[in-house]
Amino acid sequence: MSTVQTVTGPVDSADLGRTLVHEHIIIVGEEFRENYADDWDEDQRVADAVRDLTELKSLGIDTIMDPTVLGLGRYIPRIQRIAEQIDLNVVAATGLYTYNEIPFQFHYSGPGLLFDVPEPLTEMFVRDLTEGIADTGVRAAFLKCAIEEQGLTPGVERVMRAVGQAHVQTGAPITVHTNPHTGSGLVAQRVLAEEGVDLTKVVIGHSGDTTDVDYLSKLAEAGSLLGMDRFGLDVLLPFEDRVNTIVELVRRGFVENVVIAHDASCFIDWFPAGAKEQVVPKWNFRHISEDVIPALLERGVTEGDLETILVDNPRRHFE
Ligand SMILES: [Zn+2]
Repeated sequence: MSTVQTVTGPVDSADLGRTLVHEHIIIVGEEFRENYADDWDEDQRVADAVRDLTELKSLGIDTIMDPTVLGLGRYIPRIQRIAEQIDLNVVAATGLYTYNEIPFQFHYSGPGLLFDVPEPLTEMFVRDLTEGIADTGVRAAFLKCAIEEQGLTPGVERVMRAVGQAHVQTGAPITVHTNPHTGSGLVAQRVLAEEGVDLTKVVIGHSGDTTDVDYLSKLAEAGSLLGMDRFGLDVLLPFEDRVNTIVELVRRGFVENVVIAHDASCFIDWFPAGAKEQVVPKWNFRHISEDVIPALLERGVTEGDLETILVDNPRRHFE
């Protein structure tokens, strides 16, 4: 057992219950919103999120991990407002989301740079995990970084190494957004291991976008969790393939490496209004409870396996 910080306070890891390891509440470019989102209605966005997450809880999910970090519009006071109105644990993250460069705030400050100071990213991440995010009193409980098809750019590498160092200092687990089609999960494992990270504390996110079980087995054999975490994004990989890949992983003995989620959001400003519902109608918080779990059971995954995937693996991630 250990204590997990949630947006509304500490929770015993034994009480996390059924956990989706990668769900966003609100993804919004804050600077864009302040300048161009004339139709932004803060109260409506909060009310919508409360509605969706209340429904998720009623469908049997107890906890979500929200990897919305710098670069995705993390704004904790809004998340606090939402979390206070729901009976679902929300675990906040720290880190930085980029596929390319890091923001200008970090271009000139850091080891060997114009202002030669200790890595400010690491200090920020550690502060979020140990003291709290800004003045909210909310502590992050896991770290997030990304590596996409652009690969290990200088910016991506700097963030990833800072995430690794923050993990070593705090023990906080890590979620990495990866692109399985470029094998970037293996690159993330190499870089994080070089920083001394315990790879069993790493979720290789978006592993569920591929059916390449040999690739996934390699990641799992190094100890990491496989984020089969984009259920509903059928345009990237169809539902049947996503389900069958989990079935095959379980058959090969990797049930203790599987975690699941949708990577959905209550609001995201990346697409025009209504487009998400039209293009990916199943990309919502109901899909796993309503469709994925029944399909897994139908294909021979047991209730015990599901308990491992939904409860035990996320719990162990924090212990
Ligand atoms: Zn995500």
